Amino acid sequence: MAVRIPPRVEAMDPYVPQPDTFRVKLDANESFVRLPLGLRLRLAFKTLSLPYNRYPDPDAVALCGRAASCFGVEPACVVAGNGSDELLGVAFSAFADPGDGVLVFEPDFSMYRFYAHLYGLTLVNSPRMEDGLPDFEAAKARIAQGDIRIAVFSNPCNPTGSGAEEAVVEEFIRFCEKHGVLVILDEVYMDFFRRPLLGRIREHENLCVLKSTSKAMGLAGLRVGFVVAREELIRLFKTVKSPFNCNSFSQMAAAEMLAYPGYRDRALGRILKQTDRLRQILAEFCARTEGLAVLDGSQTNFVLAEGEKAAQLHRRLLDKSIAVRKVGPTRLRITAGSPRDHRILEKALEDILKEGW
Ligand SMILES: *Cc1c(COP(=O)(O)O)cnc(C)c1O
Repeated sequence: MAVRIPPRVEAMDPYVPQPDTFRVKLDANESFVRLPLGLRLRLAFKTLSLPYNRYPDPDAVALCGRAASCFGVEPACVVAGNGSDELLGVAFSAFADPGDGVLVFEPDFSMYRFYAHLYGLTLVNSPRMEDGLPDFEAAKARIAQGDIRIAVFSNPCNPTGSGAEEAVVEEFIRFCEKHGVLVILDEVYMDFFRRPLLGRIREHENLCVLKSTSKAMGLAGLRVGFVVAREELIRLFKTVKSPFNCNSFSQMAAAEMLAYPGYRDRALGRILKQTDRLRQILAEFCARTEGLAVLDGSQTNFVLAEGEKAAQLHRRLLDKSIAVRKVGPTRLRITAGSPRDHRILEKALEDILKEGW
């Protein structure tokens, strides 16, 4: 007898990543910064003595300790995941029952939808405003109806690029607290915006902050992310997550990265500088053509361009082996790359103008 597949799973499509064969990859918001040679040598050396035959530390104590001191919180307030991605799934399974409402503000990070769907939760979409920020007043009215268990959003937001000020977000968190709603505040891009509420976890019984080493910190290949929250909440994450979710190599490497003097600040500085450079390249291109404009106000490591020619430019860049991300029918999301990446992009844009489009 053929196995029965639950309809909600049957309805899902597999995630299709862009193939990894592009000359320039500006589509996944990764860091272009290579780890310093000193750090890579250190990882290579420490790799020699890893206990490969033993299971990893289930609590990732050394890693979470380092992360806690970087974030300025107690070690008991941090849990590590196989990417922050995994911890979203853990949160959705630990804090809601099938059928419960999860409030999102589309467009937002696609994994919220993915995990909500997988765990049979009901997605409730609340609007954003003109400037791309969540309409918190509308969200409050929706939450007051009583069926929402979790509210999740990224700040700054991928893919709108917009960042909300602390006071506004905190007021929303407080409202949710009164209504027994867990807030998963995704601060994966907060290194680029610096208005974190991560330091405020003690003040809120319902706040989980998501952090990742995949973006500003340049470890997307290792899959290490964190939830930062009050100890009671973290205990629940540790109860529900798979025990050996973070492998020994990633634990060691992420801890070394966090402790490596000056690395994070220098990498961040370089990314911010190249984000400005990218904005300038795209603005110059848009000034010389119709049907595309750079959107202001991205507080992240990507730049958005919008207009009827977005899809066309997407295809033309792909043809030239430059991967960027199309978000919606009229928008492109382009991640800051290295100076080399930007030289290739600039040349490609120049050629596209010459070839005509
Ligand atoms: C990339 C991203 C993440 C996930 O990062 P991990 O690599 O799983 O740690 C989470 N939220 C947003 C908004 C992202 O863009």
